[in-house]
Amino acid sequence: FAEKMEKPVAEVIKALIFSGIMAGINQEIDFETAEKAAKKLEVKLVKIKDESSSVEEDENDDALDVNLQKRPPIVTVMGHVDHGKTSLLDAIRKAKVTESEAGGITQHIGAYTITINGEKITFLDTPGHEAFTAMRARGAQVTDIVILVVAADDGIMPQTIEAINHCKAANVPIIVAINKIDKESANPDRVKQELTEYGLVAEEWGGSTICVPVSAKAKIGIDDLLEMVLLTAEVEELKADPTRRAIGTVIESQLDKGRGPVATLLVQKGTLNVGDSILVGSTYGRIRAMFDDKGKKIKSAGPSIPVEVLGLSEVPVAGDKFNEVKDEKTARGMAEARKIKEKSLQQSSMRVSLEDLYSQVKEGKIQELPIIIKADVQGSIEALRGSLEKLSTDEIKVRVIHGGVGAITETDISLAAASNAVVIGFNVRPDNNAQAVAEKEKVYVKTYRVIYNALDDVKSAMIGMLSPDI
Ligand code: GDP
Repeated sequence: FAEKMEKPVAEVIKALIFSGIMAGINQEIDFETAEKAAKKLEVKLVKIKDESSSVEEDENDDALDVNLQKRPPIVTVMGHVDHGKTSLLDAIRKAKVTESEAGGITQHIGAYTITINGEKITFLDTPGHEAFTAMRARGAQVTDIVILVVAADDGIMPQTIEAINHCKAANVPIIVAINKIDKESANPDRVKQELTEYGLVAEEWGGSTICVPVSAKAKIGIDDLLEMVLLTAEVEELKADPTRRAIGTVIESQLDKGRGPVATLLVQKGTLNVGDSILVGSTYGRIRAMFDDKGKKIKSAGPSIPVEVLGLSEVPVAGDKFNEVKDEKTARGMAEARKIKEKSLQQSSMRVSLEDLYSQVKEGKIQELPIIIKADVQGSIEALRGSLEKLSTDEIKVRVIHGGVGAITETDISLAAASNAVVIGFNVRPDNNAQAVAEKEKVYVKTYRVIYNALDDVKSAMIGMLSPDI
């Protein structure tokens, strides 16, 4: 207690005695007693457990969802660089948002909603798997469906494979948009052929992956693609209760000189209203004003709708969850409690590592060891993948969720954090950023020069025989 308050033990004991408690150095005290003593030392104590855990309960309490109704799907566009992700997002926006709606100006708030055949679809405006996985690493899964853009003249490329693996790890359905079909050199069949190597077999070839030929530039197939999104959403039966207290996720945030902290929130359950008090990660506020993706002032937003809000006390972090709470005072109290909790969690939390793998398996905490392999050549990845997966036992399954050629990057660390995986490098090293993020996220990374050593370590870890010197 003294340590946490950064006060000398003697002073804390003195304060306790003044409050009528004859305390010794190892004595247990309850919150009320601690509070009295802290007050004497001019330290403010905040009770964490009761308040913030009730919010988390709210979040997971499906019993609050009494009035489930269909909600629009939330879509992220992924794919290799230059395959046309941005062009496709622009083409969809232009085709489906009328001039009058947009008021001639296109607002970029990080997400936008379109209407097709009377139904809504929400698109996240940051294409690529980096943002998607960074959010997942923070515990936020907002995407319902991924559109994987593959250029018909280029085929599957390294970032296409990354995107596929990131979607699979997140268990999100993929619709493939075979783009640039206006080009002379386009070869959609080759793309479909290559996709089969990654477990995506096109419907017309007897599989279950929807592939839609499109051209973002020549505006071909855009409506077909959107209809397929709606069809997939139908199958997924996406629902939410618009009448409960609102919860959702921060998509983007910034500090605006005139307006203060500005955040784009995506409502996932319930309805958010101007005047509502919200807890956002470890910050809070009362919503002063709300704007939709067309820059129009609005009063409320239901499930799957992105809104820009003003009135927060600080700039929240993208990927943070928000919860509507009773009033601003409650929100502030909870935000303070969260800040303290986050600090203590940062010190204690550790994701899965090879050293403690055995005890985690024994305690039944994990049944699967997800691994990410980065190597200097493709051949090594395949060799490692095969041998590692063969180490699986009845108690624990070893699964390589991603393999790629090149240095260990920040995205690999994000994927590992989001999937509680370990990262194994073979003849490659983490780049500077990755090193820093791994330390922050407490992701276990180890590099090897000999395949046998990597296998040996994983095998030893699984039976609890890993020597602690690594
Ligand atoms: P991103 O990196 O995946 O976001 O790709 P961009 O949307 O920036 O597109 C990369 C390049 O491909 C740009 O020069 C686009 O004009 C071009 N492009 C995108 N879609 C198409 C298409 O359907 N047909 C053709 N011919 N070019 C396209």
